[in-house]
Amino acid sequence: MNKTPVTATSRTRQTPGLFFLLSAAITGYVFYRYSEGWLRSLLLSLSRSTWARRMVTSFGPAWRVASRFIAGESVEEAIAVAGQLNAKGLKVALDYLGESVTQAEEANAARDQILLLLDRIHESGVDAYVSVKLSQLGVKIAENLALENLRALLTRARSYGLRVRIDMEESALVDTTFDIYRRLRHGEGFDNVGVVIQAYLYRSEEDVRWLIEEGAWVRLVKGAYKEPPTVAYARKADTDAAFIRLAEQLLSEQARSRGVHLAVATHDDAMIRAVQRYAKMHHIPQDAYEFQLLYGIRRERQEQLASQGYCVRIYVPYGTAWYPYFMRRLAERPANLWFFVTNFFRA
Ligand SMILES: Cc1cc2nc3c(=O)[nH]c(=O)nc-3n(C[C@H](O)[C@H](O)[C@H](O)COP(=O)(O)OP(=O)(O)OC[C@H]3O[C@@H](n4cnc5c(N)ncnc54)[C@H](O)[C@@H]3O)c2cc1C
Repeated sequence: MNKTPVTATSRTRQTPGLFFLLSAAITGYVFYRYSEGWLRSLLLSLSRSTWARRMVTSFGPAWRVASRFIAGESVEEAIAVAGQLNAKGLKVALDYLGESVTQAEEANAARDQILLLLDRIHESGVDAYVSVKLSQLGVKIAENLALENLRALLTRARSYGLRVRIDMEESALVDTTFDIYRRLRHGEGFDNVGVVIQAYLYRSEEDVRWLIEEGAWVRLVKGAYKEPPTVAYARKADTDAAFIRLAEQLLSEQARSRGVHLAVATHDDAMIRAVQRYAKMHHIPQDAYEFQLLYGIRRERQEQLASQGYCVRIYVPYGTAWYPYFMRRLAERPANLWFFVTNFFRA
């Protein structure tokens, strides 16, 4: 074999190349390790920014990307998508997009749109319930306004045998959300209302304890908002561990015997498998809980779970106020951001 001897001169010539490779590897690692956190944080901040909203929503092709996650702008488009999903064996939660309204008229207009949605669900016969945000119903203007609007929705929904779930928003609203939920659920006897628990919040362990006590209808999520480390886990591993812990508590014999019904809302296979394992080990029937995923995310997995006999519900948002919802989806997954950027330049 013809080996070139490594001399002092050739070693010196290799040094810049090696140095470059090493630097590139270190930069690549640092970017890989830390950029997701920065990106997530940046996108979540932008989701609340008015100038960014104006910029993105006035750029035509942005809708093309957003529409991957949003059923359309009208109630009829949403009902049509719900029907298509039902035909594949998937149940639906419909969400009329909107949040953090600042005028009572906007809150009342949102309530009216959701009343119309309930009418259309009833008339069309699609298998769907409704998800709402209290900040869309005016909670940031006055708690009572949101309470009254939600009461109107629950009354109409009850007359049709439908349910309404209150989505959970940023941590500053959690106490108020539970307070309004309790007043309507326990004070006024609306048994068609449910809530959401965010695994990243430290307080959720305690909240789950009383929700079990009360036999609540609960959706468990990891949590989608930008929260400080004083209230929420910063590391994904800690949130994941909390998610599994809380899911097990909400699926326990004690919880089920009190009437708790759990919706496990995640796209994360590790979470899905952990719940399946726990359920199998404790002989929990498949209809005692359900999996929920967002419209447009992991479509093949949605259908696969349904074909394995699990109850699967797809959260389907629609409406014109899609910007903050869309930004939170980008923040969750850099691949989604890449898809957005490539479409931006293709436009
Ligand atoms: C039905 C539903 C309702 C929700 N309601 C609320 C709410 O009321 N309040 C709230 O704060 N949050 C809500 N969320 C959002 C939630 O808090 C999370 O931000 C969101 O679900 C992302 O977390 P994840 O569990 O999917 O896992 P992540 O930690 O984001 O992802 C983990 C893994 O899942 C897989 N994955 C994730 N996304 C994709 C994708 N697009 N394609 C392929 N694989 C993917 C990947 O393997 C990824 O590594 C809801 C989510 C769902 C599904």
